[in-house]
Amino acid sequence: MPTSLTPHFTLEEMVFSQQATRLGINNVPSPQYIDSLKNLCENILEPLREIVGKPVNVNSGYRSPDLNRAIGGSPTSQHMEGKAADIRIEGFSAQALFDLINESTLPYDQLIQEFDSWVHVSFDSKRQRRDALYAYRDATGKVRFSKIKPQASM
Ligand SMILES: [Zn+2]
Repeated sequence: MPTSLTPHFTLEEMVFSQQATRLGINNVPSPQYIDSLKNLCENILEPLREIVGKPVNVNSGYRSPDLNRAIGGSPTSQHMEGKAADIRIEGFSAQALFDLINESTLPYDQLIQEFDSWVHVSFDSKRQRRDALYAYRDATGKVRFSKIKPQASM
């Protein structure tokens, strides 16, 4: 039986990673990070599902340091603390989902519209910066972050 974190989210979906499975990387969170994942579901993902009335698809939730390194994640990624999820919702573009969350009262810490493909959202019980960013690649392929949606990625 899957372990429910909230009515619509399971621990298994917050931890599952195709890459971890493929590369044989251990991706089991410690209890403190399971608590963070539950907080993320309770404060952001479950209320978001309620607002939208549709399933929230979690592409990436918890990442062990090994997994984060393997996929080239930021060395300070909140995914490693169970505080962030990369999500998509059917029928919403990444931009539309970003706007919806940004214009809501959801207590997110950081919200990133990533490469016009998905939305990264984090929850931290100690701070809600409401830091909203766009991630894109510059002409050399380097990942950049901007407060304003860059023209090049439109
Ligand atoms: Zn992310």
